Amino acid sequence: MKFSGFKVAKEALTGHKGWKPLWRNPEPKKSYDVIIVGGGGHGLATAYYLATQYGLTNIAVLEKGWLGSGNIGRNTTIVRSNYLLPGNQPFYEFSMKLWERQEQDLNFNSMMSQRSVINLAHTDGQRDAFRRRGNAMQLSGAGGTLLSRDRLREMLPFLNFDNARFPIKAGLMQKRGGTARHDGVAWGYARAADLRGVDIIQNCEVTGFRTQAGRMVGVETARGFIGAKKVGVAVAGSSSRVMAMAGMRLPIESHVMQAFVTEGLKPTLPAVISFGVGHFYISQSDKGGLVFGGDIDGYNSYAQRGNLPIVEDVIESGMALMPMIGRARLLRSWGGVMDMSMDGSPIIDRTHIDGLFFNGGWCYGGFKATPASGYAFAHLLATGTPHETATAYRMDRFARGYVIDEKGVGAQPNLH
Ligand SMILES: Cc1cc2nc3c(=O)[nH]c(=O)nc-3n(C[C@H](O)[C@H](O)[C@H](O)COP(=O)(O)OP(=O)(O)OC[C@H]3O[C@@H](n4cnc5c(N)ncnc54)[C@H](O)[C@@H]3O)c2cc1C
Repeated sequence: MKFSGFKVAKEALTGHKGWKPLWRNPEPKKSYDVIIVGGGGHGLATAYYLATQYGLTNIAVLEKGWLGSGNIGRNTTIVRSNYLLPGNQPFYEFSMKLWERQEQDLNFNSMMSQRSVINLAHTDGQRDAFRRRGNAMQLSGAGGTLLSRDRLREMLPFLNFDNARFPIKAGLMQKRGGTARHDGVAWGYARAADLRGVDIIQNCEVTGFRTQAGRMVGVETARGFIGAKKVGVAVAGSSSRVMAMAGMRLPIESHVMQAFVTEGLKPTLPAVISFGVGHFYISQSDKGGLVFGGDIDGYNSYAQRGNLPIVEDVIESGMALMPMIGRARLLRSWGGVMDMSMDGSPIIDRTHIDGLFFNGGWCYGGFKATPASGYAFAHLLATGTPHETATAYRMDRFARGYVIDEKGVGAQPNLH
């Protein structure tokens, strides 16, 4: 079934009886060439790129719950490539390029909206740091514009310019940044992978790995043993638990992060905006709700729900930045489990077990990385070598001292 304007019109006129499920619901086979553990954005994108770029189709994606139950369906949907460091910038820019053609590639409306992302600076030092980052972004082709205070006042008149505790000095804008519909991205990759023969198996938790003479031979699951020559793990917030089953202790902590949505308002926010002093960022969904978030909860947890102190902390930041938010009623909030690495950057690498590969440590930036992460992980699984944009994401970089600390805050997961 191909989506098109013609198909939508036809279904509208014939009672919407011709739509089919987006993917099959197959029984697991005895074995596969590749098993991907985790049916989030990264796992599904990996399967899609393995099938489309590397010609492998005997693949299963094993998901312990339902598709979209993890962070792919819980994030605040921000997409950007405004990075500074050489280890990160090419990777996120590659991801942005894949986002820009994703709807055509997948033939699925994931509501990609390049409405721009603006980071606000509140001190002279922060403005200078943003100028440097903007220059790096321009050099790498990501594009970046430094906005003056007057320009920001014209664009975002509702921000607190006059009585602010943290005066706004400037803003760094990436026009190509924006938002995409998070669960639509999971459905789009799932449908496109399924169409190429990938088996997507929900309610199938992986409970162990089976090896023979140091080689991966398959996984134990809630639905029995399934054989595989290669296994790629992309389980985000569950990374440390799953890799512990392979005898690995990761440089990753799991923390809860919450998101909030208000009642629908008329179009107010023209861009994604982030506060430069507190950790607070906000955008407006196409349904009109203000979508925002802030810091992770201050304790380790695998529970997909947060606690009240962070609710207060996030709302305080929102009020400091744009006091009018206090007039909007909050409708919904939820939490997701973040795989916070020690330098704030991800890991895409082999492991000590031949045939077992790992993808994780996405912190709260993994949604924007979904296409490139899938592509790079597929490349590693298929060829055994890192993709050219992901060579820095090695597991041993922490031991070797080659950390990729974009914010320069040290080994503090809560500050990345
Ligand atoms: C509140 C919040 C806001 C965020 N905002 C942004 C943002 O604006 N921009 C951005 O770039 N990023 C954002 N992120 C981060 C982003 O969502 C994640 O980094 C990214 O989604 C993680 O990759 P994933 O989609 O593969 O994860 P997930 O969707 O969590 O996928 C992992 C899957 O693995 C499954 N799994 C776990 N254990 C097993 C097992 N043993 N067997 C089988 N399956 C298993 C899980 O059920 C889950 O479905 C946010 C995250 C949260 C929680």
